[in-house]
Amino acid sequence: MGPDLKAVKSDRCTGVDIIIEDLKSHPCCPHGPTLMFSKDVGQVKKYFYSCSACRDRKLCNFFLWADEKDKVSKHKLDAWECERITFLKGINHRRQFLAFNKVSALPAPKRSFCNTCSKFIIEDECKHAEHSIISDITDNQLSHPSELLPPLVNAKKEAQYLFSKESVKFLVDTFLSLNYKYVICIGTPRIHEYIQSSVKGLSSILLDIDRRYHNFFGPLEFCWYNSFNNHFFFKEAQLVFEDFLKSSRCAILEEKIRYS
Ligand SMILES: [Zn+2]
Ligand SMILES: [Zn+2]
Repeated sequence: MGPDLKAVKSDRCTGVDIIIEDLKSHPCCPHGPTLMFSKDVGQVKKYFYSCSACRDRKLCNFFLWADEKDKVSKHKLDAWECERITFLKGINHRRQFLAFNKVSALPAPKRSFCNTCSKFIIEDECKHAEHSIISDITDNQLSHPSELLPPLVNAKKEAQYLFSKESVKFLVDTFLSLNYKYVICIGTPRIHEYIQSSVKGLSSILLDIDRRYHNFFGPLEFCWYNSFNNHFFFKEAQLVFEDFLKSSRCAILEEKIRYS
């Protein structure tokens, strides 16, 4: 028998259905709780868990048939946990924000960011000798990282669709005219950057799956977040978000998620 379906979303290209239900009981991959999918195998509908964020097995290879959920071995559970910890490695938000402040104090020609390591170069420049480096970073680029960082273009994982300058201004003017004081920007870095750098009387927080923003916004300004399954990668960031959510006159702006 299949699960108790709350809603089903079909992907016509693959013949796979996405079962929309409470994710709390689902097993987790490094990107948080997995989603349940179904597909027809012969005459039978089979249910399985797979990654919410990556639709390419090469990017996240989590797969579990739903009827095997209660029979997962300890060995496999340990391997999943190990993968999760490895995925989170290298992120230290406080330290990264301190590095940002150090770099901001330097003149533009001395500022550089390593695309390969996704961090500012403070010392040990020779470590990055063979890496892809962005140098001579202006103040404007520091406050608008979406204009500095190469866009993530993998449509099967973290594809980004960035607002034009006109759209950003129109949306922010709309928030101001409606007397909003706080904006939660989900997957919309350009709006967050504009508010942070140029708008008085509005505060914002960015929730995004792009981990590179840890380097540019402080712990009160950015939460690493997967909107496909409502997952915060770090508990502290979730608490910051929950605090922000208590603000009055708070608008939420979310990039539309496309399953295609
Ligand atoms: Zn995953
Ligand atoms: Zn590097």
